[in-house]
Amino acid sequence: MISDPNTTEIAIDTTVRIWGLFLGWLYTHEIRLDAPLWDKDQDDSKSMPDLLGLYMFACQFEVFELRRDAMNCFLYRFGGGWVMNESTLAGIENGLHHQDPLVAFAVAMVLNFMPGVSYDTWAKLGPRFSHTINVCNKARAEKAWSEKDFVVEDAGRARDLVLRDWCQWHGHRTKGDGTYEQPRLVEVCGEETDTLRSMWKAEKKGKWLSSENREV
Ligand SMILES: [Zn+2]
Repeated sequence: MISDPNTTEIAIDTTVRIWGLFLGWLYTHEIRLDAPLWDKDQDDSKSMPDLLGLYMFACQFEVFELRRDAMNCFLYRFGGGWVMNESTLAGIENGLHHQDPLVAFAVAMVLNFMPGVSYDTWAKLGPRFSHTINVCNKARAEKAWSEKDFVVEDAGRARDLVLRDWCQWHGHRTKGDGTYEQPRLVEVCGEETDTLRSMWKAEKKGKWLSSENREV
């Protein structure tokens, strides 16, 4: 170990794959997965492990913009009809803080779009997650609707609520009444998110190039 006072050494614990995706994002501000976000075959294995890995990397090292862009990828896929599969669910719940927005997103998915979660997957989920689902399901059975908690009558309404404001999934700090603490910052974030969505829409019409066959 070099003990140079001007040098700070840090150890970064990640995979070569995630590190490569991170560097790609750093230089281009684009997340290049091997399957496009609008992939119709719903095969999570092509993109979700990478996306989840990047998201967790961003949380661990507090790279806010990467975390937001990765979250936006989940939202974009969801907007296109994708529903989370069980292995992605188990990966989310076991890797993140229970108050992370992606965990809240997973709760909304299970409540409204994943009716048949298997016993094996339930067994992998933490007690706090299962408890939240139980409480929300009980509220729904009692018709105690709560749009804030995505306890709603039908999946269509839940979809609208999830996609109503993408910034609600970015971890922006809120006040007691639910409004944002830094509205100007959130406004800028919303504009950047809109730009990203427009770019994806344009790419969807054109030719998709994965990280492997794309010229940098
Ligand atoms: Zn935001």
